[in-house]
Amino acid sequence: MCATTRPGIEDGNRKSEIVKKKKTKKASARPRSRLPITDSRLPARMTAVVKTKPLPGREGTQVKSVPVPRAGPGEVLIRVLATAVCGSDRHIYKWDESMATIVKPPRIYGHEFCGEIVRFGPEAERQDLREGLYVSAEMHVTCGHCRPCRTGQRHICENTRILGVHEDGCFAQYVVVPAYNVIPLDRHVVPPRVGAFLDALGNAVHTTQVADLSGKSVAVLGYGPIGAMCAEIARISGAARIAITDVHAQAAAHARRWASSRRLSHVSVIDLTRTKDPAGSVREALGGGADVVLELSGAEASINLGLAVARRGATISLLGIPKARSVTIQDYTGCLIFKGLTLHAVIGRRIFETWIKMLDLLRAGLDVEDIVTNEFEGLESFHDAMALLESRQAMKIVFYPNGRP
Ligand SMILES: [Zn+2]
Ligand SMILES: [Zn+2]
Repeated sequence: MCATTRPGIEDGNRKSEIVKKKKTKKASARPRSRLPITDSRLPARMTAVVKTKPLPGREGTQVKSVPVPRAGPGEVLIRVLATAVCGSDRHIYKWDESMATIVKPPRIYGHEFCGEIVRFGPEAERQDLREGLYVSAEMHVTCGHCRPCRTGQRHICENTRILGVHEDGCFAQYVVVPAYNVIPLDRHVVPPRVGAFLDALGNAVHTTQVADLSGKSVAVLGYGPIGAMCAEIARISGAARIAITDVHAQAAAHARRWASSRRLSHVSVIDLTRTKDPAGSVREALGGGADVVLELSGAEASINLGLAVARRGATISLLGIPKARSVTIQDYTGCLIFKGLTLHAVIGRRIFETWIKMLDLLRAGLDVEDIVTNEFEGLESFHDAMALLESRQAMKIVFYPNGRP
């Protein structure tokens, strides 16, 4: 079952905190929400997107009525205001091998969302949380006791359970998450339209946070939603030059629109299908080479392009996952070793440094709203949304399962 980290069982200090809190419960009772939600206001059933069968497309996914989940010990129930579709949701929908081996139907999927707390399970108290609070959540549930967890690296926990993959997720009107994983949000800084995809934005922030981008030449390889977020982070971080590559004309067009909307003269967009010399084009755009390469596509050719355009001593940040588990590196000696490159493999979000940095960047003006291309009220249009993503007509799709907030 879910390896949640529950208050009171992780370590002695926290346990004593909880005990102390219980003793003074009356004096320090949780602030009441503006509109306290009574049982009669919580419906018994909700609409959710469920992977019902191990089959691709409409046959394997149903938008259906299911019971509203209950918050167990250490958990909170959240009413989902907005939720967004991630690339891995498409793999679940299409039942690609990468997800078919992990997801066990029936499963509610979805792992990017924001919402409002409606219920606390037993022992789920946290001083900064209350009913009605606007929040998001880290959906990687970590054990808290393995070696990475104990050394401040929860993002690579050996026992990670992902809500929306291993356990039920947020393509629903309500979702249950461990209180530990909840992230309070400020509506003025993070509107629900953006709060819907903080999980993905966190991937982008994590990809960029392994290097200082200010004054650097940055290559953004792959302009899907996360590439688009990385480019915007590079902009606000003060990158001197940004080169964006993609193999899809729509993606290149989207990148050009982004650059012109912000009047960025230091951004070059390279459509790889129209370039005879991709490495030469990227080097030229970056004044000789990349100080930092952000690889988001996972394509073998793109990974090799990144190594080829990297300057000596450059940092390569790798988030993209290849279709096959293995890739062939061209000229490993010349492109990697002799250049003295630093490679960072990026998984998830640093818990919780990435979240803190992301919210600070949003507060400082990081603007990713234009990445959302399509919005739907309710979840009923889920299959249509999948078709839009498949045809690359859509970049990021947001659903409002309880209506537009
Ligand atoms: Zn995701
Ligand atoms: Zn762990």
